[in-house]
Amino acid sequence: MPEGVKTRILRVDSLRPDLDKLREAAEVIGRGGLVAFPTETVYGLGADAGNREAVMRIFRSKNRPADNPLIVHICELEDLESLAREVPEEAYRVAEKLWPGPVTVILWKSSEVIDEVTAGLPKVAIRMPSHPIASNLIKLCGVPIAAPSANLAGRPSPTTAEHVIRDLYGRIELIIDGGETLFGVESTIIDVTVRPPRLLRPGPIPVEELERVLGFGIEIPAYARGLAEAEAALSPGTRYRHYAPKTPIKLVEAERYDDYEAYASTVSEIAEREASKGLRIAILASRETSGYYSLRGFRVLVLGSRENPYEVAKNLFRVLRELDDLDLDLAICEGFEEKGLGLTIMNRLRKASGHNVIRV
Ligand code: AMP
Ligand code: MG
Repeated sequence: MPEGVKTRILRVDSLRPDLDKLREAAEVIGRGGLVAFPTETVYGLGADAGNREAVMRIFRSKNRPADNPLIVHICELEDLESLAREVPEEAYRVAEKLWPGPVTVILWKSSEVIDEVTAGLPKVAIRMPSHPIASNLIKLCGVPIAAPSANLAGRPSPTTAEHVIRDLYGRIELIIDGGETLFGVESTIIDVTVRPPRLLRPGPIPVEELERVLGFGIEIPAYARGLAEAEAALSPGTRYRHYAPKTPIKLVEAERYDDYEAYASTVSEIAEREASKGLRIAILASRETSGYYSLRGFRVLVLGSRENPYEVAKNLFRVLRELDDLDLDLAICEGFEEKGLGLTIMNRLRKASGHNVIRV
């Protein structure tokens, strides 16, 4: 079992990382060890993508089902050519405009990619991260790094080193503490082997921007929106419900969210009803409506401003972890308009709620 491993924690400056420290981390990976490191999305749990034993340890240490594939992280475009074959023009367009950055492309895998990484699938997920710690670490390793999010399976993805420590201390060799991650949600994933390209997971790069870069439309299957009806039709690799906090969540979805007062009053009524059953509840709310609920005596966790969905996305997983720490019976959660980053937010919230959604 991976438990019983001695875990070291290295503090590294995110903007100007100490390369000597990252060299130590690269040596750990070179010896087949596991290193958690910050990226611009969330913390990743990295291993040498070509080392079967090490990759298998990733799955064991986070209790990840063996059929949930990993993303391969690279630091230069040549790696794309050795890891993938029949790379279409669209992949290069994404790479040119959005890499390094928070978007992952799905491509046909080359024979260099071991089956453990792709969970036996014929396609591989590849990303070039922009975080200075991540990119320098990959460079120093000299090999592509396989890395899922550095959380225990089923827990919200980690956006700080403290989250990683909570989940993986004693299970992995090293945790690089580079502070809070920038985007706070996992990368946008797009499959460019199909026509039209298909969104597998919304992330920090909005679909609208990807469409501009690609020059044509992207298919958004219902599962990418996190809709329950789509669960049965999930494409391989997207089968798993992540982001499940322990506290049950009821998500209140509306046609529109622009009449703050009317929406907050509806959410309040729902919360009153639940509280009157004796349940200890909290409301996960936007900053704009949070005062409405606290005035009525509700405990409120603020996700961020409706005017700034990047803030909501960045705070989301931290707030879900804080919710669990409160040990309540139920959280009532506000919904967000499903455009731009709102699609990413709603995908994560629908999953976190286990599709416990009320439409108002
Ligand atoms: P994580 O980094 O923890 O978000 O996990 C990586 C995610 O990338 C997986 O859960 C899949 O959703 C996706 N993924 C990785 N490889 C593939 C693949 N070959 N095909 C489809 N999705 C993939
Ligand atoms: Mg994950």
